[in-house]
Amino acid sequence: MSDPLTPVLTKRWLSPNSWRLSVYEQLEGYQGLRKALRGTPEQLVQLVKDAGLRGRGGAGFPTGLKWSFMPPNEDKPHYLVINADEGEPGTCKDIPLMMADPHSLIEGCVIASYAMRSHHCFIYVRGEALHCIRRLNSAVREAYDAGYLGKNILDSGFDLDITVHAGAGAYICGEETALLDSLEGRRGQPRLKPPFPAAAGLYAAPTTVNNVESIASVPYIVLGGSDWFRQMGREKSPGPKIYSISGHVERPGQYEAPLGTTLRELLELCGGMKDGIPLKFWTPGGSSTPMFTADHLDIPLDFEGAAEAGSMLGTTAVQVFNETVSVPWAVMKWTKFYEHESCGKCTPCREGTYWLAQILERMVDGRGTEEDIDTLLDVCDNILGRAFCALGDGAVSPITSGIQYFRDEFLALCESNKRELVGAQS
Ligand code: NAD
Repeated sequence: MSDPLTPVLTKRWLSPNSWRLSVYEQLEGYQGLRKALRGTPEQLVQLVKDAGLRGRGGAGFPTGLKWSFMPPNEDKPHYLVINADEGEPGTCKDIPLMMADPHSLIEGCVIASYAMRSHHCFIYVRGEALHCIRRLNSAVREAYDAGYLGKNILDSGFDLDITVHAGAGAYICGEETALLDSLEGRRGQPRLKPPFPAAAGLYAAPTTVNNVESIASVPYIVLGGSDWFRQMGREKSPGPKIYSISGHVERPGQYEAPLGTTLRELLELCGGMKDGIPLKFWTPGGSSTPMFTADHLDIPLDFEGAAEAGSMLGTTAVQVFNETVSVPWAVMKWTKFYEHESCGKCTPCREGTYWLAQILERMVDGRGTEEDIDTLLDVCDNILGRAFCALGDGAVSPITSGIQYFRDEFLALCESNKRELVGAQS
């Protein structure tokens, strides 16, 4: 593994005024674009395939492969849409990236649009992040003024416009097809897939939806090459990654490290557990990814490693909880989030998350029974794989994994209720 402290994506973050074009240009900014425009779109798609870049939004779909699904002809307009609707609980990597280094995203957008023959790119930003929307808009203006956007970019003959679009604060709009509906001005709800966006996306035209961190990685791949990129991380999950560490650690924040870094190593980077209180449970990639425990400190946090250990890498939002936290309480809080954010389109998710939240609230209030644990698992079983999009599966993850590792804690809540009921009857 390469030195986890060698920054790639975050290397400019601490420079004064890192978001300004002048600073970006001084630090190799837009050099990747100059190089990319000297090649062909096909060469760029191949480069990203060779680098093995996988989607940083959570699912890890190979980015170059996704780009290659875009049709080679231009019968209809092609669109690149950046999913900057970062909303997964615990996830806070894309907004800091856009705040500190917006031009790396813009440069990536121009390169990716050139590779996919797109002349209009939309950056869909979470509506609550107004500060980020302002920063992006001002960086986009700087890029237009300098000739990195607009007509005939750097005399290449390639044209691209970027529109920064504010979402309205719905978690479901981070699901790529709900995002496209929202961008079209409709209520954001997931569409049936297939067709995937490359076949029928924005305005039914060929569209690629990519995450912020994925696209911000592209200029570095163009400059450094695929072999350089593959030196970091693991064979099937190469490259650097921004891990968002939150919760009971000494120094929460963004830590860049190669894919495959373990929680033990990440804890060293962020100063260890806060006040030395031992770790109890943690999520590898946001609340939608099944939780891990102190027994999972040495799992390589890459797409394969997390999956082989029974979870998912997700957004690498590492939420760390110490021994003072009740697992049923945390699970109840997450479940109420999913209940609130369920878009209501499909019955398993709409009804299921409602009932899960009701049961968990009852248990945490000390009014649960032992049968409630089986009912919870039964409802989870009826959501998993049966909901219209990943929100349903995500809602189930904290509950099933929580019960898997901490069943005794759920039981203890029911036991104390049982004692109270018996006491009241006698
Ligand atoms: P997915 O696996 O269905 O799709 C991932 C991407 O690959 C999509 O762009 C999809 O269009 C493409 N794709 C998949 N199969 C394809 C095929 N056969 N042909 C063409 N394209 C194909 O996953 P998803 O539902 O888009 O996302 C789920 C993930 O989102 C979860 O892993 C979760 O971690 C993550 N997530 C992230 C956030 C966040 O804030 N970043 C929020 C919630 C969930």
